[in-house]
Amino acid sequence: MEFPGVGMSLLEMSHRSKPVVAMIESAEEDIRQLAGIPDNYRVLFLQGGASLQFSMVPMNLLTPNGKADHIVTGNFAKLALQDAQKVGNIRVAGSTEDSNFDHVPSQDELDLDPGAEYVHFTGNNTIYGTQWPTEPDVGDVPLVADLSSNIFSKPIDVSRYGLVYAGAQKNLGAAGVTLILVRDDLLSRSPENLPAMLKYSVHAKGKSAHNTPPVFSIYILGLVVKWLAQQGGLEHMERLNQDKAKLLYDELDSSEFFRGHALPEHRSLMNVTFRLPNPELETRFATEATAEGMVELKGHRSVGGIRASIYNAFPKEGVATLVSFMKEFERTHG
Ligand SMILES: *Cc1c(COP(=O)(O)O)cnc(C)c1O
Repeated sequence: MEFPGVGMSLLEMSHRSKPVVAMIESAEEDIRQLAGIPDNYRVLFLQGGASLQFSMVPMNLLTPNGKADHIVTGNFAKLALQDAQKVGNIRVAGSTEDSNFDHVPSQDELDLDPGAEYVHFTGNNTIYGTQWPTEPDVGDVPLVADLSSNIFSKPIDVSRYGLVYAGAQKNLGAAGVTLILVRDDLLSRSPENLPAMLKYSVHAKGKSAHNTPPVFSIYILGLVVKWLAQQGGLEHMERLNQDKAKLLYDELDSSEFFRGHALPEHRSLMNVTFRLPNPELETRFATEATAEGMVELKGHRSVGGIRASIYNAFPKEGVATLVSFMKEFERTHG
């Protein structure tokens, strides 16, 4: 209720006041520390969700007559492609839609254009439960990534990217703020006539306060980043996330009743997707799990089945509870 040392709530304070400016600066500093962000990258807190970045990236990074490559690995990747194609010349350099997105492309499944101004990919695919084990190799072409559903779930080598964006609501805190990491040299690409709110360089110059930023969401993001550091940093989070996901994947691998959707080498640590022998059993599984306090397990309609989302903040005990429930469900319905 009271912002430390100020005597009123953050929600009552001007975004230009000293404590709020310092709060935003310290959130940025903590992010830099946590992820080892090089000095030649700007950290921006923007609005409009990850979805605004689908068009804002090409508006800023495509020069007149320029072209870019997109790699399509799921639902959000398709949405990113659709919006980017409204802005400029975007080519699909790889897609795994033919296999219902059960994996991400291997390097030789990619058809990259060396003349592209950037390559866009989606780090983790929530609906299908896949993730890239490492970034695609795009040579000297700037790599742009939507990391909304796996940012800070493991260490990141930011220097491999031109630009990273992530809506905060899955791994970083509350909805309302989108984290952007962008390499300095890319800021000068934006066309002169781009409206201010759509221009990265305007937000960089204004230190994310060109207009009123979502101060409360940034504050929460800052607290989450402090919490991640207190847990032991990103190496620790990766081990924890691997342990959590392994409980579920071991269960899938040892059962004939449950079948995982993603190919083992591209399995997501954040979203574990699987099927039961038939849709009736899947509905029953989700309903009975809900009765035992495990919610949101029904998979997205495009894959069906079950999806367990186990983002950074989700405790290992919760995963263990689900695994016990799975064993019991198989015993009684298998
Ligand atoms: C959740 C998600 C989004 C959507 O983010 P919004 O902030 O709601 O626009 C986009 N991309 C990926 C990879 C996601 O997981």
